[in-house]
Amino acid sequence: MEIRFLGAASTVTGSQFLLTTDRARILVDCGMFQGGAHEVVRNRVPLGYDPAALDAIVLTHAHLDHSGLIPLIVAEGFKGPIYSTKGTAELAAVILLDSGKLQEEYAKRRRRWAARHPEKAELDEQRRLEAIAEQERIARAAERAGAAAPRRRAGDVMPDGRVVASGFDELALNDEQAVGIRMGFPPYGDPDYPAAMEGHPTRPNLLLEEPLYDQAQAERSLRQFKPVAYLKEVAVAPGITATLHDAGHILGSSIVELHVAASGKTPARTLVFSGDLGRSPAPILRDPEALAQADYVFVESTYGGRTHEPQEEAFKELRRAVLDTVEQKGVLLIPAFAIGRTQEMIWALDDLLDRRLIPHIRLYLDSPMASRASAIYRAHADYYDADALSDLRHGEGPIEYDDAMETRRASESQKIERARRPYVVIASNGMLTGGRVLSHLRRLIGDKKAIIMFVGYQGEGTLGARLLAGARKARIDGQDYQVRCAMRSISGFSAHADEPQLLAWLGNFIKGRRTGDPGVPRRVFIVHGDPEAQEAIRPKIEALGLPTLIPHWHQSVKLD
Ligand SMILES: [Zn+2]
Repeated sequence: MEIRFLGAASTVTGSQFLLTTDRARILVDCGMFQGGAHEVVRNRVPLGYDPAALDAIVLTHAHLDHSGLIPLIVAEGFKGPIYSTKGTAELAAVILLDSGKLQEEYAKRRRRWAARHPEKAELDEQRRLEAIAEQERIARAAERAGAAAPRRRAGDVMPDGRVVASGFDELALNDEQAVGIRMGFPPYGDPDYPAAMEGHPTRPNLLLEEPLYDQAQAERSLRQFKPVAYLKEVAVAPGITATLHDAGHILGSSIVELHVAASGKTPARTLVFSGDLGRSPAPILRDPEALAQADYVFVESTYGGRTHEPQEEAFKELRRAVLDTVEQKGVLLIPAFAIGRTQEMIWALDDLLDRRLIPHIRLYLDSPMASRASAIYRAHADYYDADALSDLRHGEGPIEYDDAMETRRASESQKIERARRPYVVIASNGMLTGGRVLSHLRRLIGDKKAIIMFVGYQGEGTLGARLLAGARKARIDGQDYQVRCAMRSISGFSAHADEPQLLAWLGNFIKGRRTGDPGVPRRVFIVHGDPEAQEAIRPKIEALGLPTLIPHWHQSVKLD
């Protein structure tokens, strides 16, 4: 049995893990790379497997960085089922259709721009192809390293219970053994390229004038979703069953537990994928479920090395921002992910209002996608925690704010500009990499009476991360702006567990036992985090007695 890390390896986005046994091949997640240019370019690097040969996809949750490449895989020949909770299936429909539309729009804009600036476009395209080739080289290097790894690797438990010292160098050093064993891809433009690609059909369109997939393809992929309930074990492929557990991250989010039946010399194994793990206490939703047994754990590490401020502190800061906005008759702009974070912000503002800690201030919800997601949240009280259910029994849903204005059409969105101040706008997307939030940002970034408040994770290389780091100038859609508005950020609203919570969740796997005992993970793979965060949490996971590995993108690891 082998696992291949096709995404979320030393980065946060693009979550995709290919599990191959001698009887089946399944994907856990099939996410899109988002964020900086070097990340996004990976969406156009060949998948390295044939989607038609996949038995199934198991999806942890609907966010684009976990689900975004599903339509592409389906268009390339994947015909099997996609298992997820019902909530995830419904939210994924919203997200994937929107993604198809954005892809089309982006390609159209790009075509128009290229027609006007043919020389610039050619140069740009050339640079991009080089960037893709570079990413392919990285992928191939990792593939070779993965295959060449010796049986006893960093993190392995020796028969005497000793853990082999960690360190990735050991894997890299054995590189040459694998040459010719693993399927590698020569870089684009290499004369061997067409021959090497034969029998490996999946090569996404390289040109930016072509969308990765369109709306119709996104729509088609939705038919393959098979909703399953939490805690119900289902057979997903020959010899593999899956059980979904509450992850407390967004509606329908799950921790995926896979049981792989014994085969040959490999005994039956349990693999647990944390997906994105919610913080505790998770608002509206139930907290992440604690699991205690696994042979291999794949844990997210978005907030490795960091501790969230307490929720009450987050509420205080949100309150302060609203009060300052009211006092200076300004605007509070909250960039937020449409799904999850927006609903949580409505919940938090409404809570402050209920407790009379803020005056009523006009709230604009400027994201049609967030509005659709809110409707799905409202329809799924079966996923609520006890507090949210009690709110509901008292006649008020957990995501209602009096007189909130939800904008549907772009023309309504433009009217916000002329609205009487003070007011709050929540718009997506959360990292300022696109969406309606950018038109608000353009208008407010030079306004001293505006506050931009980040309430979520800002990926490396995004405009959000640069502004948060104190950039005084910003480039938005090719135009430069001076930053004069106030930048604030609140970490306490994260939908991710922080480091102590990640360690507490992992601690359940070894509580009362020792390294090497049955049911204690033989290895914890640290995924879904920037390198800094992963390096920060790694020694602490090892200190729990759990051997670790931080996989490289496209690396394969044998699970014996
Ligand atoms: Zn997520």
